[in-house]
Amino acid sequence: MASPATRVHEDGYTPEVAARTAPLYERVKRVVPAIEWPVFAPDIDAILRLKRERNAVVLAHNYQTPEIFNTVADIVGDSLALAREAARVDADVIVLCGVHFMAETAKLMNPSKTVLIPDLRAGCSLAASITGADVRALKARYPGVPVVTYVNTSAEVKAESDICCTSGNAVKVVESLGADRVIFLPDEYLARNVAAETEVEIISWHGRCEVHERFTPADIATLRRDHPGIVVLAHPECDRPVVEASDFAGSTAAMSKYVAERQPDQVALITECSMSDNVAVANPDVDFVRPCNLCPHMKRITLPGIRHSLETMTWEVDVPADVADRARLAVERMVAIGWSK
Ligand code: SF4
Repeated sequence: MASPATRVHEDGYTPEVAARTAPLYERVKRVVPAIEWPVFAPDIDAILRLKRERNAVVLAHNYQTPEIFNTVADIVGDSLALAREAARVDADVIVLCGVHFMAETAKLMNPSKTVLIPDLRAGCSLAASITGADVRALKARYPGVPVVTYVNTSAEVKAESDICCTSGNAVKVVESLGADRVIFLPDEYLARNVAAETEVEIISWHGRCEVHERFTPADIATLRRDHPGIVVLAHPECDRPVVEASDFAGSTAAMSKYVAERQPDQVALITECSMSDNVAVANPDVDFVRPCNLCPHMKRITLPGIRHSLETMTWEVDVPADVADRARLAVERMVAIGWSK
């Protein structure tokens, strides 16, 4: 029998489902081929019904596929936006379409809600690179040096940290501490990019995003050769030479803003593949060249998986209270600082 994540519902594409979902297809027709819609529509229709029945909202990260991002999601954004919005959710249930640390963060920010993730295997190479014990060892090695932790970490790691940051506010957070040096965890490349923009000494860890570490300056050179005049935007989880070869570096939220405000004729987003599809929906006059590195963890979240999650109320994400209280403090300190550079 097919697993919930792979089960398809083409046979559910009735005339009623087609009519109910037609306005949604209009929204995504630029990035979802018409031939695929009969496969997606029955799950979308069921998810919209289940959300009402369960009093649930769907939060989706910018790296989710367009048929999730643009149809069933109530709130979309980068990991910081999802954390901030999770705190404001009134509904009983939050379905987090992203990776596990994001679901944990939603639970930290709104502990009375039921937080579900459609696939428990949706992890992250950065979050997996470090444990709470590693942070305790670093603190013992550098006594008194404050710990800044990227949000792409487990609640256990956040709980050992002084403050969290995102790629959009990392420099601001580092400089807010008034320290000569900080321990910056766990992304080695983000640490390098932060170090290039501040006088504060950065002690880094060896974590890397398995998606962004694959981009090279040669990729950018090829893009520029093949598409003269193209604007290249890179995520700061890319290595420093990639960022230096780009026209702009910023979080996924900053990239979206750049495209929306400047409307370049042609752009390449040096980040996870689905981001281009999702930004393209909102910017029909911009031509996107799509260098395609997929995040296998983000891609574990599917429409059948979301449907199954709401049908069975799985998989619930919880965080032990003592860890949650300390981790929440680190996230709230970041939110209080804000996220523009
Ligand atoms: S894109 Fe990179 S940082 Fe984001 S979830 Fe995937 S592995 Fe983690």
